Amino acid sequence: MSQPDCLFCHLVANGDHVHAADGFVAIRDIQPAAETHLLVLPERHIDTFRQIDEFPDEEAGRMLRFVATVKGADKTALVTDCSRALDQPPGMYTFGPLDGGEPFYSDGSVGLLPDSPSLASSVRGMDFMVRHMHRQVGLELPAAVRMASLTPATIIGLQDDLGSLTPGKRADLLFLDAGLEIRRVFVDGEAVT
Ligand SMILES: [Zn+2]
Repeated sequence: MSQPDCLFCHLVANGDHVHAADGFVAIRDIQPAAETHLLVLPERHIDTFRQIDEFPDEEAGRMLRFVATVKGADKTALVTDCSRALDQPPGMYTFGPLDGGEPFYSDGSVGLLPDSPSLASSVRGMDFMVRHMHRQVGLELPAAVRMASLTPATIIGLQDDLGSLTPGKRADLLFLDAGLEIRRVFVDGEAVT
């Protein structure tokens, strides 16, 4: 299962384990960028996340559940480094300026650098993240929404202005339908869609 020359297998075997369950471990980062900085790794060796078949949806869902369970919704923020391939069909897209930016390929679920084992970016928006955490990962909807709203607002110190429906906070709102698709967008109380 583990490979002797793999850094991550070494970390799984020898790292400072904080929690282990369900085929995953959380270990302390040796160069923490925050008071608590953990790496979550599958216990089994995986050559590359680029080959999605090696890390099936069910296992990816279990890893996200592991994170949410260890940290809780008030300490887990959903993030996306989405590119302009957001919600677009598979094809070639460009990072940065359209003239002179760097090309990358979107397979419709993630951005990939051509001729490189590296991932390029996400092509999913935050609305997708919330739906995914609720439907595929199995979190309660309020927990998934909190991870996209009040939790990140609190992490960056803007919890008094953003992140929940409270008198006095800025009215940046999304209206979602029963399928969790965005129907209306309000910025500072003004409808923009
Ligand atoms: Zn490994």
